[in-house]
Amino acid sequence: GNGTTVTADMVDDVARKHFPPCMRNLYDRLKRDHHLKHFARLQLGLFLKGIGLPLDEAVVFWRRMYGATMSDDKFNKEYKYNIRHGYGQEGKRMNYAPKSCQAILTINQPGTQDSHGCPFRHFSPDNLVIFLLSTYPQLDRSSPEMRDILDSVKTSHYHVACTRVFEVTHGLKKGQGLGPDGETVTHPNKFVDRSREMERD
Ligand code: SF4
Repeated sequence: GNGTTVTADMVDDVARKHFPPCMRNLYDRLKRDHHLKHFARLQLGLFLKGIGLPLDEAVVFWRRMYGATMSDDKFNKEYKYNIRHGYGQEGKRMNYAPKSCQAILTINQPGTQDSHGCPFRHFSPDNLVIFLLSTYPQLDRSSPEMRDILDSVKTSHYHVACTRVFEVTHGLKKGQGLGPDGETVTHPNKFVDRSREMERD
């Protein structure tokens, strides 16, 4: 994290401006369906902890996102425990770290009904294009940037594709990456932290 607190009220704004594609996908689905499966909740939940959403605000956030699709009783019994667990307040009291790109790319591979994972690696080419076009107005289908992204995906350089999205959505040139040395994306929380820093600069 970068030391700043994010409240439940702020998540939507931060998501739209700063989330990396994997988390934007999860957040948009949660918003649409009022539901996420276990590994998707874990991926998004630990990421949100990493951006500075405290436990009490996480409880408010998830309760609100499930909305009327879930009773308070069910939420308190089945979901609150898992949220607290992710913050090390239950069970073995582990300090679970937000997942890196490497972990997201290689561990707990999503099935066809799942929404967790990395869009560059786990979406079909068609679905990836649809997702990118509907999420990022800066991209269009026949642009050189889109070609760069799809070429990187074809050669399995998913983090390069993700870095290209960062550049395009932050008005940066190809190769500028996340920072002065052309750093590529290796962690979703680096993506979001860097994006938020750039807004403050
Ligand atoms: Fe998320 Fe990493 Fe994939 Fe980017 S490369 S979408 S940050 S998992």
